[in-house]
Amino acid sequence: MQQREPVHHTPASRPLRSLSPAATALLATLFLGSLTLTGCGSDPGSADLILTNAQVYTLDWGEPDAEGNPAPDAPFDPVTGWRPDAEAVAVQDGVIVFVGDAEGAEAFRGRQTRIMDLEGATVIPGLIESHAHVVELGALASRIDLVGVETEEEVVSLVAARAAETPPGTWILGAGWDEGAWADRLPTWDLLSERVPDHPVYLRGLYGFGGWGNRLAFERAGISASTQDPSGGRIPRDAQGNPTGVVLDRATLLLEDSIPEPSVQETMTHILDGLRIMAESGYTAVHEAGTNQRSMEAFERLESEGRLPLRVYAMVSAREPELCQEWLLRGPDSDRASMLRTRSVKAFYDASLGSRGARLLDDYSDMPGHRGVSGAAYGFDEELVARMIGAGFQAEIHAIGDAGNQETLDFFERVLREHPEARNLRHKIVHAQVVHPDDFRRFADLDVAASMQPPHAVEDMRWAQDRLGPERIQGAYAWRTMRRHGVHLVLNSDLPGSDWNIFYGLHAAVTRRDKELQPPGGWRPEEALTPEEAVRGYTVWGAWVEFLEEVTGILRPGWRGDITVMSLDPFVVGSTDPGTLLDGSILATVVRGAVVYEAGR
Ligand SMILES: [Zn+2]
Repeated sequence: MQQREPVHHTPASRPLRSLSPAATALLATLFLGSLTLTGCGSDPGSADLILTNAQVYTLDWGEPDAEGNPAPDAPFDPVTGWRPDAEAVAVQDGVIVFVGDAEGAEAFRGRQTRIMDLEGATVIPGLIESHAHVVELGALASRIDLVGVETEEEVVSLVAARAAETPPGTWILGAGWDEGAWADRLPTWDLLSERVPDHPVYLRGLYGFGGWGNRLAFERAGISASTQDPSGGRIPRDAQGNPTGVVLDRATLLLEDSIPEPSVQETMTHILDGLRIMAESGYTAVHEAGTNQRSMEAFERLESEGRLPLRVYAMVSAREPELCQEWLLRGPDSDRASMLRTRSVKAFYDASLGSRGARLLDDYSDMPGHRGVSGAAYGFDEELVARMIGAGFQAEIHAIGDAGNQETLDFFERVLREHPEARNLRHKIVHAQVVHPDDFRRFADLDVAASMQPPHAVEDMRWAQDRLGPERIQGAYAWRTMRRHGVHLVLNSDLPGSDWNIFYGLHAAVTRRDKELQPPGGWRPEEALTPEEAVRGYTVWGAWVEFLEEVTGILRPGWRGDITVMSLDPFVVGSTDPGTLLDGSILATVVRGAVVYEAGR
């Protein structure tokens, strides 16, 4: 942890910020409902949790201007830079009751109060991951990781260990054995079937070109001596023509397609695994970008059982018309108190730039005659999304190419003309990756937010200009241009496709450099954000986009106790030595006053 800095007391212009016990109780009822109240039995007037001896950035000051200059009341000095604006936070019944100096927080100490002495660590409002696929993250985490495992025997031992704690008959999945390195000595099902006879096993190769299973898996998939090799695929066989346990290239699908969809119960486990990883990564809320019937049911069950450790903002997938119909009947869930809220629909308008599926206004620079695909041709159900918006749902629409973005803005314009009342639903275009110069202004005019991923810019920079050419690249990954046009910006990782480590995200946002600090001056650095904007993009702006900016996203008495503790100060480090942002780590994550993660525990 860092050396403690000199104390900066709350400026005189800002009165000591605290709440009376009665006001706390009232706010707890208003914001939290009765389900999540913690600290029952604690003495009235005393906090459940005090974080002290910290560098606290409350974000409880004015927004920076469009160029990123801090507001006049920000704890910032043009000469000396950023400084924290508090050193302690106290939380009672899930609600912040005090923000200020360490002595002031002492008044909230009671017999049951937990004191966390942070020894100079940094405290910011709880991180919000505003575009994630947590179910997928958890599913990946549940697979046995075989990357770097050297021998067939070691793989089988790992699978057998997993089988010992898994009900018989359940599929066991793993991934990462190296089908390239093992090509001359492909594994077989012999040892695997002998040691793991009662569970079907499927182990995907590192590159997806090889699959390895046991006898039971091949039986379940109906692959036998009489199965023909599919075109583009091969099933290695013994002298009698029987499969030996491996499928190659397109034959992998024969096995993969026989793996059943996870059950609701399994999906609940994936969600909990995914949320645990998110808590360890400092996040206090996730916005799940597209749920299907099963994952929606899993989320709802976890919520009703009080088992969601983080707040979840679920977007219903427009690719699930039945689920959308159900929500059209139910209507948007705008209860700010619940841990699971569903008031948003997620749709795809075009595909991705990497695959040249994103829809461009002119030909791809590296593929003349090709402009990608969008709209109905890409499965965008305009009528359904329009109905959802008309029924009060926020829409988040995936658009990447400049034509994809333009047509999506046209769509919003049409729908909002018909439903003017839906204008304040904080609709979003997610990615907003390549935007025509004339269209930035339209985001602001239509009140459509841009939900963007700092990691994508530094991951795509190597080939993006090949696709787009030198002109169009000017409107690509254009965070500063968005800000200059007054567009609401929100930052996230789109995990698990990109690394969700907040320090990677902040570093990319502030420097436009990758993890190897390349290129040294940043890629098109004129589009970079300031450290304050980057932090806001992952906190209070994320709260805004889920209609909770009056509940969470800043640290203020009466707001929720959603707090992230980190090893470094992103304001100071981000402005003085941004490369070292990558060295940061999460020390604790607090959701509604409950410590859901603590490093070293
Ligand atoms: Zn996504």
